[in-house]
Amino acid sequence: MNDNHELLVLFCGPSGSGKTSIVHKMLEIFPQLQFSISATTRAKRKNEVEGRDYYFISLAAFKQKITDNEFLEWEEVYQNGYYGTLKSEVHRIAQLGKVVLFDVDVEGGLNIKKQFGENLLDIFVRPPSMDELRRRLIARATETDETLMTRVLRAETEITYANRFSHVIVNDRIEHAEQEATRLIRQFLFVKGVSGITV
Ligand code: 5GP
Repeated sequence: MNDNHELLVLFCGPSGSGKTSIVHKMLEIFPQLQFSISATTRAKRKNEVEGRDYYFISLAAFKQKITDNEFLEWEEVYQNGYYGTLKSEVHRIAQLGKVVLFDVDVEGGLNIKKQFGENLLDIFVRPPSMDELRRRLIARATETDETLMTRVLRAETEITYANRFSHVIVNDRIEHAEQEATRLIRQFLFVKGVSGITV
């Protein structure tokens, strides 16, 4: 268990659950939060910015960081699609005096949950159904058929992990999911005595 005292909020759930949209909204609402930028080997999408959405690095660089023990956690989410949270990222955010906000996949989420105790608020986001998840992943259409299939299959397994998390938000309507996430974070920050929070 990590014995530092930084506060952390973790969103996790299958790819296509809508957690990234919720995370963006939370960053707008709560200036106390700072996004933990993950490292990834996947290609940048056209609306993404290096050093804002991810640190886009090569497979070789990623593997070197694994060897050098630079990750808090990492996953091969699909073949040659590596994602990981750098220890330096959590330190960077702690130095700013902010609350760390994670958006990771389910395995990564469980991994992070193991390393932090009650200073972590963990939230699992799930789509209302598998059909809806499939529809969302197809609509995103940035993937090749092969990665799409891998993501769908993976999501089917990941959805069954929901009960390992302290809070589950069903993302049926985005406004509703955002309201629920806002309520949970506000309550957590208030209990932890973060300034500027009223309930
Ligand atoms: P995407 O390619 O759609 O941005 O992300 C694919 C999946 O990888 C998502 O479920 C996303 O949350 C997850 N992911 C992003 N960053 C990390 C990370 O640092 N660690 C892990 N384990 N998963 C991550």
